[in-house]
Amino acid sequence: MKAPPFGYVRANSMDHAFRLLAEYGEGSKVLAGGQSLLATLAFRLSEPSLLIDISRLSELAGITRQDDFVRVGAGTTHTMLGRDSLIQAHVPLLNDAVPYIAHTAIRNRGTIGGALAFADPAAELPACCVALDATIIAGSSRGERRIRASAFFVGLFVTALEPDEIIIAVEFPVVRTDERSVLMEIARRSGDYAMAGVALWARVDGLVLHAPRVVFFGVDDRPVLASGAGTALDGKRADAATVELAQTALDRDLDPPGDQHGGPALKRQLARTLLARAVAQILTQDKVARA
Ligand SMILES: Cc1cc2nc3c(=O)[nH]c(=O)nc-3n(C[C@H](O)[C@H](O)[C@H](O)COP(=O)(O)OP(=O)(O)OC[C@H]3O[C@@H](n4cnc5c(N)ncnc54)[C@H](O)[C@@H]3O)c2cc1C
Repeated sequence: MKAPPFGYVRANSMDHAFRLLAEYGEGSKVLAGGQSLLATLAFRLSEPSLLIDISRLSELAGITRQDDFVRVGAGTTHTMLGRDSLIQAHVPLLNDAVPYIAHTAIRNRGTIGGALAFADPAAELPACCVALDATIIAGSSRGERRIRASAFFVGLFVTALEPDEIIIAVEFPVVRTDERSVLMEIARRSGDYAMAGVALWARVDGLVLHAPRVVFFGVDDRPVLASGAGTALDGKRADAATVELAQTALDRDLDPPGDQHGGPALKRQLARTLLARAVAQILTQDKVARA
């Protein structure tokens, strides 16, 4: 299929982009890396009358450390995330996630803002944002607002963004010396979206995990914070018995619908397996002095 006809404007400033969005409303869409949007146009899943190109806005660029946070501009590509030294040192989960995202050509153009706004339930970065308790900063002609990642993903490809809002940046807490994180997934082929995946963040003391945040992706219509499994692991020696209790709690945390990869039973089994693997990996990860 071919894309329907649409207008195109390259925004020359954030204010310009906000004005266009306010003027054209739901008939318009912002264009970042185009890696998901152009496919939805080609399949006529989306028929905006106007594309507002935000890919060259300097206000959306850059990765900076600000006190206890690393601020990542929405226009940061996946490739940039994977190479950035601040990310490697202070938000290593993002670094670990990048190789799982699609292929090099897509990573060179796709942006973190686009991935979060698109909100594919099998995508890695939304789950990382929830696991790391990141804050998404959205802007519009009405000003800026801050949205916790746990409240940002509200349904299948649906977020808390208003139609006139643009993601400007994402803030991630700087990882401390006792904190570690792991991302892993099961996919049919390298570069495919995950059949199921997990992002795990925790404070680690020997074999004990504290305040773990276990977030699954590819198992529901949005990233799922598995709070029962997290509670089962919290403050206990993470041995086989504890992991089994956490897996039992996980069965209550998840209610996976089937998808093209398989039914609910398969999704549950993948999630249980990933939970055990992620716990094993986080315990053996080297402590890296950060902060
Ligand atoms: C073959 C293929 C495989 C892929 N595999 C994976 C994968 O394994 N894992 C994964 O996570 N992703 C995968 N992707 C998606 C890829 O990561 C995209 O780059 C990403 O989802 C969208 O980013 P983008 O910058 O290209 O956004 P675009 O395609 O330009 O936009 C996507 C949507 O987000 C909106 N948008 C973009 N930027 C903003 C913003 N700053 N504020 C508000 N709204 C905005 C657009 O209006 C549009 O609705 C894959 C894509 C393809 C084509």
